[in-house]
Amino acid sequence: MLDKIREKERQARLLEPSPVRRKREIASVNAYIEEFLTSLSRRPAYEDRKAPGWGIRPPEGAVAEPPQEGPRSLEALLSILDREVDHRGLNPASGGHMGYIPGGGLYASALGDYLAAVTNRYASVHYASPGAVAMENGLIRWMAQLVGFPRGSGGFLASGGSQANLAAVVAARDAMGMEARRVPKAVVYLTAQTHHCVDKGLRIAGMGQALRRMVPMDDRYRMQPDALARMVAADRDQGLLPWMVVASAGSTDAGAVDSLDVLGRLASKEKLWFHIDAAYGGFFLLSAEGRRRLKGIRMADSVVMDPHKGLFLPYGTGALLVRDLKHLQQSFGYSAAYLDDALDAGGPSPADISPELSRHFRGLRVWMALHLHGLAPFRAALEEKMLLARYFYAEARKLGLELGPPPELSVVLFRSVPQGLKGDQDALNRHNAGWVKALAAEGKVFLSGTTIAGEYWIRLAVLSFRTHLRHIQMLLQSLKRLSAL
Ligand SMILES: *Cc1c(COP(=O)(O)O)cnc(C)c1O
Repeated sequence: MLDKIREKERQARLLEPSPVRRKREIASVNAYIEEFLTSLSRRPAYEDRKAPGWGIRPPEGAVAEPPQEGPRSLEALLSILDREVDHRGLNPASGGHMGYIPGGGLYASALGDYLAAVTNRYASVHYASPGAVAMENGLIRWMAQLVGFPRGSGGFLASGGSQANLAAVVAARDAMGMEARRVPKAVVYLTAQTHHCVDKGLRIAGMGQALRRMVPMDDRYRMQPDALARMVAADRDQGLLPWMVVASAGSTDAGAVDSLDVLGRLASKEKLWFHIDAAYGGFFLLSAEGRRRLKGIRMADSVVMDPHKGLFLPYGTGALLVRDLKHLQQSFGYSAAYLDDALDAGGPSPADISPELSRHFRGLRVWMALHLHGLAPFRAALEEKMLLARYFYAEARKLGLELGPPPELSVVLFRSVPQGLKGDQDALNRHNAGWVKALAAEGKVFLSGTTIAGEYWIRLAVLSFRTHLRHIQMLLQSLKRLSAL
């Protein structure tokens, strides 16, 4: 028996590498990372390994093989990672990535992740790691202050904007007493610009039957407050239950920022839950211009903002903030213990105010980046992105491109309308979708497109911390070439 245990222990101990091996392995990983970072400016923003047969997806390769009984060398694994993961598809680490909403990948956060994974603090429950919980709550307090929320507000770090929006819908549902029998009469007010994860959240939260009202937008894709007021009144007249307004502070598609202060006053007067999806735009609050554009955000009942967008963090970090923490405790608390916890200087335990229990120690990657660099370079980077979007807007006009509204933050819509195709919507859509493909094939920059009211538009989204003037000028060069074809 004891021999057997010792034999098993001998094998199990292989899971704990020796100091020598640790040193060798971290050196290998570091060499990989250095090669990745130093070659980044030469790497395409998008790499497409052509499928062997037309329309057939390439085989998955070694990356998808099941684990074997025996070990493999780290070098072999890094080589698979390099070939089959880091050289295929979109490269979100590239400054040339200006599609969708670019994510970040700050090195300082990677250091935080490394520390978090090795020390593996249990960041969900106060008694298990008072320090980790205090760190997260401190970050949440800082974000709530940015928003302008009063004392008694709170929130948690989520895995991303979709999760945070879902939790906001759940909190709004419970706070407004939307039990099952009332759901078919509940009304939620959105626009065509609202991110699709909100609708997904409604369905997951059991609000799938709630009525969605698409509020008309102005010519800058912003919700029209007058139209909202009329719709709410008409719904009340019909005996329906106006429930929640979802505003966008930086819509993903067009970068539109709704008139938060006007909508906030209206929501408050009508006693509606006022939710602001600022997943993309929220951290522009760090700049004076952003604060002007997001005026009124403090009137929200709940706000979503994504550190993996506006704070340039690696994917996997969102945040939900609520004006009154009690709403999260009501929806997500599982014991009365939170009452004691909340009184603690460290604030509430994330497990008591969010859907998760065991979770990644997300706070460390946020904390490390913000403190290691200080806020100044973040403010500068966000202001730089806004200026780059405006610079592009002015230069694209000179190229004769058709432009969407002037950028509120850092998204610009544009399209090419050659003489011969004027008035032919299908042909124009195909032509512009072709440009997006051509840019991706060229690989220097990656832009995505969107269809708004049947029209295909190319989107420039400047938010990678690595996107600088050089990338915008490269894009303008490519557009000039495409225009000349
Ligand atoms: C990105 C985005 C989301 C979704 O967030 P994820 O972090 O991708 O889950 C929601 N709303 C807006 C406005 C966004 O830009």
